[in-house]
Amino acid sequence: KNQSVTDIAKLREGLLKGERAMLARSITLVESNAVRHFGQAQSLLQSIMNETGKSVRIGVSGVPGAGKSTFIEAFGTFLCSLGHKVAVLAIDPSSSIGGGSILGDKTRMEELAKNPLAFIRPSPSEGTLGGVHRKTRETMLLCEAAGFDVVIIETVGVGQSEAIVRGMVDFFMLLVLTGAGDELQGMKKGILELTDVIVVNKADGDNKRLAMKTKQEYNQILHFLQPATKGWSSRAITCSSITKEGIDMTWNIIQEFRKITNETGVFQLRRRLQQKEWMHTLIDEQLQKMFYRNENVQLLLPELENRVMSGKETVSNAVTQVFNVFFESIRTDN
Ligand code: GDP
Repeated sequence: KNQSVTDIAKLREGLLKGERAMLARSITLVESNAVRHFGQAQSLLQSIMNETGKSVRIGVSGVPGAGKSTFIEAFGTFLCSLGHKVAVLAIDPSSSIGGGSILGDKTRMEELAKNPLAFIRPSPSEGTLGGVHRKTRETMLLCEAAGFDVVIIETVGVGQSEAIVRGMVDFFMLLVLTGAGDELQGMKKGILELTDVIVVNKADGDNKRLAMKTKQEYNQILHFLQPATKGWSSRAITCSSITKEGIDMTWNIIQEFRKITNETGVFQLRRRLQQKEWMHTLIDEQLQKMFYRNENVQLLLPELENRVMSGKETVSNAVTQVFNVFFESIRTDN
């Protein structure tokens, strides 16, 4: 046990010095599914609490092919050239669904990966979306402790993962393509309402004019929607990761966003509420796990399912019964 305590102290020390090897080891610890690692990871996280929260946390989403990795590479490289330390993390919902991964295991952002001021970490590959969520959140804290002042969290636009990323970042941007037209009509209002800035990407060459038009269309729509952040008017801009036009503008907008939301307190309030919601998410998860792993619940559930399916038992009744069994077994455990 003493061994692990010194290890944690060592990890902490290395982390705070910004040593990459120690950051990588800390992330491995946080990502581990082994029960004995959980406690260690939590003591490490507890010990660095004061050193976290100092970055700007940026979410980037968009459908596959929207240009996320190309954008992040250009944007991240630009930020490094200004002297920022940039960490890029990913939440890949497909990895938890089981099959391959949408974000891909292929080497992405090769140039940024070589930059000494950047750190790129792929999505945790195993576990439920909830598990991936926790690991990414905790990895973000480790990166902050290691001195990264910009954390970018990338995800694929397939619904649930966008809401998850919105719940852990300060600023959320959506990358879209031109020629939205009909797509625009069908686009889920819900996703636009999470978004602080819509980036119409690939605004270069023959595509540039269309991109300007698409930008206007999005701006019109945004006008009628609930803004994602109180006191901030969500807007659309154009960008090209090839010509780099719009990359600096994206950063300027984020700076403006930070300034405004800092002054109004919306920035700090969001962080606080995110912590609270995060706690409730973990409680929900823990409750579910406890419930479904309970032996007596497992024993009774199939029978109740059958009774409910064959109409012999009302659903509410069945639920009451299984909870009674659950509570009963907790009582006798103690
Ligand atoms: P992701 O799936 O969202 O990560 O998309 P990628 O970054 O892999 O980009 C998809 C394709 O679009 C690639 O072939 C890129 O070269 C291309 N692409 C990305 N950004 C731009 C851009 O700004 N302009 C142009 N012309 N092509 C781009």
